[in-house]
Amino acid sequence: MSDCLFCRIVRGEIPSKKVYEDEHVFAFHDINPIAPVHFLIIPKAHVPSLYECESGHEPALGRMLALAGRLAREQGATDGFRTIINTGRVGRQEVYHVHLHIVGGPDVLPGMLKR
Ligand code: 5GP
Ligand code: ZN
Repeated sequence: MSDCLFCRIVRGEIPSKKVYEDEHVFAFHDINPIAPVHFLIIPKAHVPSLYECESGHEPALGRMLALAGRLAREQGATDGFRTIINTGRVGRQEVYHVHLHIVGGPDVLPGMLKR
């Protein structure tokens, strides 16, 4: 069994504020939000980063994106939001279990990355 932080959250060993759960994915509020709406959608099965993803992960990855708009709206991001997946060292990934950040709220987001 994985002792990865997010695997432990999926198993309920570490408490989280759950947003949604089904057979493929789990969603919960980020512990250190950067915006009024900030939650994470993750595959239930452990996969460290997008580098390790392959066709077997498509049902979970597809579900993560397909749910993003509905869950964002339900959480109060009704006028837009940003989806972010940080990958690896250059992507500044901190937790090595794939997660889709959903970030939004009223007019808080800056533009895209600076050129
Ligand atoms: P990353 O930088 O890997 O894309 O993002 C990891 C995210 O996980 C961060 O936004 C961080 O605040 C969040 N996080 C780290 N540990 C925990 C935790 O124990 N519980 C929750 N809910 N979020 C966490
Ligand atoms: Zn994991």
